[in-house]
Amino acid sequence: MVSENLWNKTAARQEISAFSEDYRAFLTACKTERECVSYMADRLQAGGYQKLSDVIRENRPLASGDKVYADMMGKALLIFQIGKRPVTEGMRILGAHIDSPRLDLKQRPLYEDGELAMLDTHYYGGIKKYQWTALPLALHGVIVKKDGSVVRLSLGDGENDPVLGVSDLLPHLAGKQMEKKARECVEGENLNILAGSCPLEGENKDAVKAGILKLLKEQYSIEEEDFISAEIEAVPAGPARDYGLDRSMIMAYGQDDRVCAYTSFRAMIEMENPEYTSVCLLTDKEEIGSVGATGMHSRFFEDTVAEVMNACGCYSELALHRALRNTKVLSSDVSAAFDPNYPEVMDKNNCAYLGRGPVFNKYTGSRGKSGSNDANAEYIAWLRNILDKGGIGYQTSELGKVDAGGGGTIAYILANLGMEVIDCGVAVLNMHAPFEITSKIDVYETYRAYRVFLRG
Ligand code: MN
Ligand code: MN
Repeated sequence: MVSENLWNKTAARQEISAFSEDYRAFLTACKTERECVSYMADRLQAGGYQKLSDVIRENRPLASGDKVYADMMGKALLIFQIGKRPVTEGMRILGAHIDSPRLDLKQRPLYEDGELAMLDTHYYGGIKKYQWTALPLALHGVIVKKDGSVVRLSLGDGENDPVLGVSDLLPHLAGKQMEKKARECVEGENLNILAGSCPLEGENKDAVKAGILKLLKEQYSIEEEDFISAEIEAVPAGPARDYGLDRSMIMAYGQDDRVCAYTSFRAMIEMENPEYTSVCLLTDKEEIGSVGATGMHSRFFEDTVAEVMNACGCYSELALHRALRNTKVLSSDVSAAFDPNYPEVMDKNNCAYLGRGPVFNKYTGSRGKSGSNDANAEYIAWLRNILDKGGIGYQTSELGKVDAGGGGTIAYILANLGMEVIDCGVAVLNMHAPFEITSKIDVYETYRAYRVFLRG
């Protein structure tokens, strides 16, 4: 019953290193859900995938081996490769999320105080607020003007770009702050980003803010009012880095859950001629409850499967439900890794360790498994069989000790459709911190596990 440290037995160090480099480049390039979708759509098009909307418009039929994808509002992505068997016999779905915790600019973000231009934010997802101060931040996002034109913003990650950030109090004057509970020592409303300090010449009132507005007008042709229809995310600036003296790990922003999104995506695009229809599902809004049109609760997924089945010539309401019910899913999401600094929150026999491969969580939830998808023993047995045959190292885990806390993923939402679902992903240290850590061998082995699953 011992899962092994995979470094001890791997013969694939070169492959792991090459895979990690591509993965790091992806993390550095994709810091928002929109950036993930456009990066992946480019690779899909290069890989012979057609847009589902084109297939529908031109009334083209889909058959075994065909490859299609659909995006939802530029923030979620669904990728299909039609299998040899009818879709009604079920699909193999890898489902990850591409949103990550961050600070979103408010709709009226810009103001001046103390002759400094500030950007007001509202945090997104579960963060420890004190971790987001005194840290270089970049702004990524879109500003949509009234005429529908979209200005794409990416500032703070270019080599010569300036960075921004949230200031913190000097220790000399932080006596009162240091006595507060950690959840209150930095208040959400105080996560304001310093954006400028140079007054615009000849301007009397709010001259620093005026200077920033002039710059935005000149460089991006946007007005202050355009912030109303913008989605701008402040994210940690800088590239994904090798971590550790032995370079065995990766430190980067947004690895929950882009590590599973990337490995799922790679397994998907390298798949050819699947037996069962392969699906890669990359969803948005997981960090705030999978809500909204681009989240997993949206009808987008079922609607798109219906469209694909229609193009395959096998759609009916009943056929759709059969297809969903016969489907097997890996909810590709990260798990907490054992941290030697905080052993007290883990049950050592039932927690994940860096280096031991993909992590299977039969259930998540909190307070007595509440809110969890408790995967079926029969399904887990099926997975053990295909993973062992595929020579994949893996481990099992729960999210911390009983009653230590808990969490959830998209697993239960897909399980509501009658599918077999289990959480399976990469172990992460520093989860939800500005920079998260994964082990390179876990990233690679998870990708290998996903490939085996799509063939299973
Ligand atoms: Mn996640
Ligand atoms: Mn998360």
